[in-house]
Amino acid sequence: MTSLDTLTINSDRLRSDFDALAEIGKTRGGGISRLALSTADIEARSWFADRIEDAGLFLRDDDVGNVSGVLFSSQKNARTLLVGSHLDSVPNGGRYDGAVGVLAGLEVLRIVKEAGLELPVHLEVIDFTDEEGTWQSLFGSMGLVGHLSAAHFSDMIDDRGPFRAALKRAGIHPNDYLKARRDPATIAAYLELHIEQGRQLYDAAIDIGVVTRIIGRTTYQLTFLGEAGHSGTTRPENRRDALKGASDFILQAFDLVEAEFPLGTFNCGNINVLPGAYNIIPREARLTVECRHPDKARLRDLEAAIVRLAQDCASKHNLHLKTHHFVHMPAAEMDDSIINTIQEVCDKLHYSHVPMISYAGHDAQIMSTITPSGMIFIPVVEGISHNPKEYAEWDDVVKGANVLLHTVLAIALREGTPEQISYKRS
Ligand SMILES: [Zn+2]
Repeated sequence: MTSLDTLTINSDRLRSDFDALAEIGKTRGGGISRLALSTADIEARSWFADRIEDAGLFLRDDDVGNVSGVLFSSQKNARTLLVGSHLDSVPNGGRYDGAVGVLAGLEVLRIVKEAGLELPVHLEVIDFTDEEGTWQSLFGSMGLVGHLSAAHFSDMIDDRGPFRAALKRAGIHPNDYLKARRDPATIAAYLELHIEQGRQLYDAAIDIGVVTRIIGRTTYQLTFLGEAGHSGTTRPENRRDALKGASDFILQAFDLVEAEFPLGTFNCGNINVLPGAYNIIPREARLTVECRHPDKARLRDLEAAIVRLAQDCASKHNLHLKTHHFVHMPAAEMDDSIINTIQEVCDKLHYSHVPMISYAGHDAQIMSTITPSGMIFIPVVEGISHNPKEYAEWDDVVKGANVLLHTVLAIALREGTPEQISYKRS
């Protein structure tokens, strides 16, 4: 009888999957453009579906377009242990982001199947739709946990017609999204392997990051409203310059976050100025800003402080302020017992590891609202991600995949009594 401890993923097979997938949506310079629901994304999903069937796994898809492979347990009332990530990418992104987690998950299922292991959980590897937010960030996982609503498809704020059309083109019917929701009682846990997308592991030469929490994020549109006027003849005391007030706000916001919220971040990624002529005092400056913080309560405080500052700057410059809140994604805690399990697995495999906060969003943060979740990070060279230069050493990918495999086995062990894990063949 094979010992569970000696099981290891097949590096060559994982590598050949990785190389084949990297051909789909390939860009010049070695990057990837597989925007959610694009032709390349649809091709990647169907490639993944073929690999699932080749492996003799059950192929399933749901009403928000998530594609999975399932290895069923024969035990009655077995719950599902989900592993996965996403196959979509940002425009001209890297080959590792998302892909590593999905492919390693598939490899874990193949290894368990080939070893003839009968686990007390169904194992399911899942590719979540539109993690990157081409249309709606974390769409697939939100659909699975039941966080989508009609508003996500409606034209109340923006024209969502193109999104609905893209869904239909991919064979997803916007009206059916509620059917994708799964009963949390049927899910045992969710695990995701991912590249770090920062340089903490790379700089410290550490094999594995064990994610303890995922940053929360909030996005606002802040519109400063003043009055247009002649740029030359309007006297300083009569100017109501929307852009001047907005600029004052932006610079102060960075200082405020740095001084009062050391774990937080602030970003202003877009400014739209009206009427937008060099000889007219700006009447309107519309900013798109984002705040992140790993602590739920502190994110609320940070958000409130930013809005207050915007109001103060508006008053100081004799302007009005309009706020529109887009997204509030609370910070997510990873499950303590999964964190411990990942750490124990790393120790057993003699891989160095460190607890970390993820400053990027992931499907695991959505999944953690319905089931115990955990994330395993591997280093990415110089921390470069969302870039064609994104590169992880293959050795690190294999280490991450082995940590995923043994974490899956350890969680499965906890789900049933040890005797319930048996070999179909000896
Ligand atoms: Zn990702």
